[in-house]
Amino acid sequence: MTVLLLAETRNTLDGRATRAAVAAAQALGPVDLLVCGTAETASAATAWPGLATVLHCADPACAQGLAEPLAALLAALAQSYIHLVAPATAQGASVMPRLAALLNLQPIPNVVGILDAQTFTRPTYAGNALVTLRSDQARQALTINPLAFEPVPPQGGAAALRAVVAPPGTGPSAWLSFTPPAASARPDLATARVVVAGGRGLGGTEAVPALEALADCLGAAVGASLAAVEAGYLPSELQVGQSGLAVAPELYIAAGISGAIQHLAGMQGAKVVVAINLDPDAPIHAAADYSLVGDLTELLPALTAALG
Ligand SMILES: Cc1cc2nc3c(=O)[nH]c(=O)nc-3n(C[C@H](O)[C@H](O)[C@H](O)COP(=O)(O)OP(=O)(O)OC[C@H]3O[C@@H](n4cnc5c(N)ncnc54)[C@H](O)[C@@H]3O)c2cc1C
Repeated sequence: MTVLLLAETRNTLDGRATRAAVAAAQALGPVDLLVCGTAETASAATAWPGLATVLHCADPACAQGLAEPLAALLAALAQSYIHLVAPATAQGASVMPRLAALLNLQPIPNVVGILDAQTFTRPTYAGNALVTLRSDQARQALTINPLAFEPVPPQGGAAALRAVVAPPGTGPSAWLSFTPPAASARPDLATARVVVAGGRGLGGTEAVPALEALADCLGAAVGASLAAVEAGYLPSELQVGQSGLAVAPELYIAAGISGAIQHLAGMQGAKVVVAINLDPDAPIHAAADYSLVGDLTELLPALTAALG
């Protein structure tokens, strides 16, 4: 029995999350990759190592990433597979519970370790503890945390290519339009090697240019706490944390961020953490490798001047 892996079809132009899920899924058996989209995209995926077959579905509703038709398509294909897998992205988190409901399964989300075909580890308590669980279900529906596995490269394989057809009907949702995020010269937050994040301590939008100047000086992405987003200092797509993005940069600079457990959940993969905070007792210092206690309106420009 092989693994059926749903490829991310939007918002990951380099397929990094899917390629990380390929690396993880290989531990479960031969992997078939379901690509919903253009023939060119499916054909490109045949070059990824570790795949037995690339299944190509050209159905427009599936290609647009609508959860209901994708879940119905996976359910229609499921009989030949034990493991039904997707990257733990917004799409995976949307599709896999629907698939699990269709197949009467308990989904296992955000897997960070595969011990055997039925035993998995996943974070709990906002990423502060790890659960190891065994699922005795005959079939498993998993999402894979893409930050926990090194992606397979985009070249080096030679998978077979096979067309599949989606079941009729599109479900209760209709795809109307897609507005891409505003173009930015900065690196993608999810995969950036350096992140400079601002919190409520920014105190207003006036401090944002200083945050961005440090980010640009370091070639970094800009991140935000939920409080900074809610206050309107930074846009919501930059939110790091339990209800935002999980990031794993080499360097994470947290300016004016207190270090709430929900924020730490999104940045705990960072290798080196620098905290800039007025309050010497702020919890962020406990998670930081380096602490700068002081006013960010002075420290951000000083750092930029020193590093620029
Ligand atoms: C279900 C749930 C999900 C959540 N998800 C997220 C999430 O995904 N991401 C997230 O970030 N939060 C999340 N939160 C919110 C979280 O609990 C915190 O409220 C939030 O992270 C606080 O943001 P903050 O650190 O920017 O603000 P605060 O906690 O208000 O901290 C501001 C910090 O700035 C410092 N400061 C003030 N002025 C300055 C200055 N001039 N210079 C330097 N430092 C200064 C202060 O000392 C303080 O430590 C979630 C909460 C819940 C309940």
